Amino acid sequence: MSADRILVTGANGQLGSALIPYLTNIYGVDNVIATDIREGVLTGLCFEHLDATDAGALSRLIQRYRISQVYHLAAVLSAKGEKDPLGTWNINTGTFFNVLEVARNLKVGKVFFPSSIAVFGENLDRELVGQHVNLLPATAYGMSKAASENWSAYYCRRYGMDVRSLRYPGIVGYQSLPGGGTTDYAVDIFHKAVTGETFHCFLKEDTALPMIYMEDAIVATLQLMEAPYDRIKVRTSYNLAGMSFSPAGIAAEIRAHYPDFEIVYEPDFRQQIADTWPRRIDDTEARLQWGWQPNFDLGSMTTDMLEKLRIRYKRKAISG
Ligand code: NAD
Repeated sequence: MSADRILVTGANGQLGSALIPYLTNIYGVDNVIATDIREGVLTGLCFEHLDATDAGALSRLIQRYRISQVYHLAAVLSAKGEKDPLGTWNINTGTFFNVLEVARNLKVGKVFFPSSIAVFGENLDRELVGQHVNLLPATAYGMSKAASENWSAYYCRRYGMDVRSLRYPGIVGYQSLPGGGTTDYAVDIFHKAVTGETFHCFLKEDTALPMIYMEDAIVATLQLMEAPYDRIKVRTSYNLAGMSFSPAGIAAEIRAHYPDFEIVYEPDFRQQIADTWPRRIDDTEARLQWGWQPNFDLGSMTTDMLEKLRIRYKRKAISG
């Protein structure tokens, strides 16, 4: 087992609560410190309450636990972020600066920072967006991620730090519920299919967006963090692709399992955000430089999601 000690911010969110069991598996349960401003559902962990806007508290935890890697997941996501643009900017960039500065001062070995497809904007050919394009994000969330990508590269260049980052597409998983993003529908739809309810979709039927299954997102993250230093050539953030689909596409796939499944389309403000995002992204550099390769496509993800959620709802019904 490795001697690394990991601190995760925002650990009780959609990604963190799925990632933590993988991290404890690799590093040992005593070597993973989960932190968040809210309580979570995972038990048997070392959990510390941490508001990542508090640099002093972050610094004390990193020293107390002799942390060697930080996974900085805490953020306000795209759709939620549009309700308070300045607050979102302050939290997302403020917490990231805290992580960068504390990590620099305390010589933390590696930092992981998740970026997003929200860094892309309206200026692009949305059909297939490459790694090195101009970023003109249309949301406060996207602007906070694009700026943070540049600061990642700056800290690597200027201070020799090892900050690694992925531009996640929408993440779909059964483990947890999403926290206010524009791709949340792609998780909610599976819950409604399993519980036999009509799904009200906040995007139009043909709105294709890049997505990734949670298992693949986690594998990519761990693979990136474990890759040798000199294999990491992109120090802003790597494009990462799993699959692309629209609400109509995923509904058709679900109907192969639940022929009576119904979906109605009621686009809201999130449609405007989705309209500025790529339909597909090109992740060739991640594939070539550190061997990224997704395992799940829409069909295999749908089968796995439905199976896992059926078990979960059955257990819930039994336990009352
Ligand atoms: P989430 O909203 O589910 O979780 C975020 C967590 O951060 C929450 O548990 C929240 O309590 C915590 N948090 C918020 N403010 C905090 C603060 N000041 N201090 C400490 N904790 C705080 O989000 P997620 O889906 O788990 O996303 C994790 C990361 O991945 C984020 O940085 C997000 O931008 C990025 N990302 C996620 C997706 C996705 O589809 N889920 C896609 C692209 C990028």
